[in-house]
Amino acid sequence: MLIDTHCHIQDSSYDFPSIDELIKRARNSSVDKIICIGTNLKNSREAVSIAGRYDNIFAAIGVHPHDTKDGISGIIDLLKVNKTKIVAIGEIGLDYYYNNSPKDIQIRELEAQLQIAIDYNLPVSFHIREAFDDFWPIINNFSGIRGVLHSFTDSIDNLNKALKLGFYIGVNGISTFTKNSSQKDMFRNIPLDRVVFETDAPFLTPSPFRGKMNEPSMVSEIAKQYANIRGTSFAEMANLTTKNAEELFGI
Ligand SMILES: [Zn+2]
Repeated sequence: MLIDTHCHIQDSSYDFPSIDELIKRARNSSVDKIICIGTNLKNSREAVSIAGRYDNIFAAIGVHPHDTKDGISGIIDLLKVNKTKIVAIGEIGLDYYYNNSPKDIQIRELEAQLQIAIDYNLPVSFHIREAFDDFWPIINNFSGIRGVLHSFTDSIDNLNKALKLGFYIGVNGISTFTKNSSQKDMFRNIPLDRVVFETDAPFLTPSPFRGKMNEPSMVSEIAKQYANIRGTSFAEMANLTTKNAEELFGI
C-alpha cells in the first residue's frame, strides 16, 4: 500500500473527477491513504470537510506563502472545532520564486503558523522555493518542529540541513521527468527512511502521463520509477515510504 501525502483534490476550484472516483482509482493502484493539503482558508476548510466524510482521507490546514498577503485568520479555528482528522499544518513556507506576497509578510505568517504547529503538536508540510537562506534561521527558533519538505528539488547541501533536523523529503512526479543532473543526483541521495511520496495533484503529473491531470492513483507510478532509480523493489519502496508517512503524520 502507498500513501499520497500531498494533494489538492478537495479544492473545488480544480476540475477533478468525484472524490469517490478518485478513491476508487487510487485503491486500484495500491494507494490507500490520502492527505488533502490546504493553501488558504477556503480549501483548508474543504480538506477538513472531506476528511470527515472518508476514513482514508486526512487533512492538512494552512495558508500557502502565495496567499499570506490575505492573512491566516480562521485557520486556528478549524483546530478548535474538530481536530481528529487534521494531521498537519500546511502547506506553509516561503516562496521567493514568485513572490506573490511580500517577503516580510511571508515570514511573519510562516512564524505564526509554526507556532500553531507547536501548540497543537502537529507536523508541517513545507513549501520552500528559493528561500532556504531565510528558512533555516527561522526554523532554528522553533525547536521540535517536525515535518516534510514537500516537492523538494534543491541542493544536496540543503537536503543535508533538512535531514539534520529530522525532516522528511516529499518526492513527487518531478523525480520522473527532471533532466537536471544535480536534481537527479539529489534524488539518488535521500536516505530511504526519510522519503515520503506525494502527487501534488492536480500539478506535476509524472511521466509518462505528462499532459494528463495528476491524481492520487499516480503515486504508484512515482513509486515504481523511484524504486528503479534506487535499485530496490516496488514492494520494498511502498513498505518503507508508507511506514515513514504513517510515522510522520500519525495515520
Ligand atoms: Zn501543493
